[in-house]
Amino acid sequence: MRIGEKFCPGILHAVPAKDGMLIRIRVPGGLLAASQMKAVARISTEFANGEIEITSRSNLQLRAITDRNLPAIVEMLSSAGLLPSRQHDRVRNIVTSPLAGLDPEEMIDTRPLVRELDRRLILDPVFAELHPKFSFGIDGGGQTFIREWSDLSLEALPSLSEFQLYLGGASTGISISTGQSVACLLEAAKLCISLAKQVGVPIRGKALISVPEMMTTVVRELSRFGTASIRSQERAAALQTPIGVLPSIHANQANIVPLIPLGRLTSMQAQRISELINDCEGDLRLAPWRGIVLGAVPRYFVATITAQLDAVGLSLNANDGFHGIAACAGLSGCDASLADVRGDAALLAQSLAGRAAAPGWTVNISGCEKQCAMRRGAIVELVADTVGYSLRLNGEATVSHLSPHGAINAVLSAHSNYISGVVAS
Ligand code: SF4
Repeated sequence: MRIGEKFCPGILHAVPAKDGMLIRIRVPGGLLAASQMKAVARISTEFANGEIEITSRSNLQLRAITDRNLPAIVEMLSSAGLLPSRQHDRVRNIVTSPLAGLDPEEMIDTRPLVRELDRRLILDPVFAELHPKFSFGIDGGGQTFIREWSDLSLEALPSLSEFQLYLGGASTGISISTGQSVACLLEAAKLCISLAKQVGVPIRGKALISVPEMMTTVVRELSRFGTASIRSQERAAALQTPIGVLPSIHANQANIVPLIPLGRLTSMQAQRISELINDCEGDLRLAPWRGIVLGAVPRYFVATITAQLDAVGLSLNANDGFHGIAACAGLSGCDASLADVRGDAALLAQSLAGRAAAPGWTVNISGCEKQCAMRRGAIVELVADTVGYSLRLNGEATVSHLSPHGAINAVLSAHSNYISGVVAS
């Protein structure tokens, strides 16, 4: 297991993994051009293992790279516009709804804010000091933004074109106008850097708010950006990962959300997606549920696109078994893994296939206690240790020492109970 900043990858910070060097490509807001997806697909085919991983911060990862190919990869990614600042290679983690500007229920279109935040982040060298996992979240409202805790986040307040500011998942109680939002985030990030240095904690939101009186200091320093918030309760994170054809803000368009099994695309699938987006002049997004959205697809093109996606193995069927399952890199990609988690996840998906889709059903399978792929609010957690899997339901430990077969049966039983609960409620 490798823990710490040093082992957090970037494009210029390839880190060794079991299967070779690993790089992570920041994609602020998950706003990826079709040509960029095509470039990444080509790199994966030529220099990596032919797969592309989507992360929970809407970034991309490539694996199984050899050292000698790194310079060519850096060159190709730079040419594709995916490395706009070498200094800020690892600090452009900005998460927003992959349906921003497309979701009929959103309150604020966050795309201009994401772009502005990214533009100003890379203008200032001080932000290169942010922890490589430090993330900004901008939630413009709507139903389908699934997110983990961000270090600094803004959540749209109903009806006011304003946001509430959060640090490490905790409300600061400050509401901020849309016009002040980027300036406030940048100032807050600078404050995080200086305060974390002062008190000797990592530059992370949760680490900072664990320090007594820190929140009071932060609120005092940032209060000039806004007013006391009208809402102190956090909006519950949506648990349901969307899938299928979703309505768009424009009646003659739709948004297509295929299932990406365990958050990995093959390079062939990625290449096809980029072609389809080009063909329909749509809008490609990476999603924080480790998926993608083909947005703004003309209605008359939807049937063609869904058939083409199906032809390359990307289903829109919520009952295909993989829906809701996440797994870490596992045996093939991580030295620390104590089980073939991805193989076991695929077996579990086979067993679940055809069963009724359950709203909010989420399973996390991890090769060790570090739980890299863990999502907040997962219903089921399977965590491998030296003697088998341990099962946790809603965060509570239940049984341990399970064989892969026993673990799958236990999850199937949990699924039946979950479905019964959903039906009964
Ligand atoms: S959770 Fe998985 S990827 Fe993370 S350290 Fe453990 S085995 Fe490796």
